[in-house]
Amino acid sequence: QPPTAIASYIQAARRNLEKGRDDTRDKVFENLDKAVAQGTRAAEIIRRLRQFIEKRETEYLQGDINGIVEEVRAMALIDAARKGVKVKMNLGRNLPLVVMDRIQIQQVVVNLVRNSLDALAESKRSELTVTTSAAENNSVEVAVSDTGPGLPDEVANQLFKPFVTTKPDGMGVGLSICRSIIDEHGGRLWTTPNPGGGTIFCFTLPAISDTGESYDQ
Ligand code: ADP
Repeated sequence: QPPTAIASYIQAARRNLEKGRDDTRDKVFENLDKAVAQGTRAAEIIRRLRQFIEKRETEYLQGDINGIVEEVRAMALIDAARKGVKVKMNLGRNLPLVVMDRIQIQQVVVNLVRNSLDALAESKRSELTVTTSAAENNSVEVAVSDTGPGLPDEVANQLFKPFVTTKPDGMGVGLSICRSIIDEHGGRLWTTPNPGGGTIFCFTLPAISDTGESYDQ
């Protein structure tokens, strides 16, 4: 990822300077050019992400969380079938409505499901379960659980920071975007180990109270 690459090119430049041989100058230039290229790439990624997020106005409407999960299901089933993953849906009945930007919440669910499918790629037991339920403080909870290897130690403490990834082609921005979307909605996003092995990502969204007002927690 660009920030890591920049740091290692600059470190390499430093080491080359320390060695101070005849060919040092060329090597240092090469290291610095590569660092500049990675810096430019990082700036471009951030610019594109901003554009993507800012392109449309957020549209908060009352809606049913199960509808969102059903929409994501079609996509998930295609990917899951290809990867030999069994998908289960435990959708709570008569859940209260929530106020949400449908596209953003769909993006969150897609992201969590994709991460689980990635995590399951090498697992012997491959199950992905999406559960929706009513939760405390008049909120609705969505849990995406998998039977994958669990969170890699090196990222477990900084999952929600941008550019944190263990995937060769990953950008490492999915979970940080998910967290800001859920924060903006007044909900919470967290992760917990799956007791049988694997990971569970959960998020809540405040539900509408009987009077139609969004519940103030
Ligand atoms: P990316 O998917 O581009 O790496 P994310 O921010 O979505 O970016 O995820 C960051 C990292 O968190 C992943 O690279 C992976 O190491 C870890 N991760 C996320 N979800 C899971 C999961 N369900 N099981 C195991 N590791 C996960």
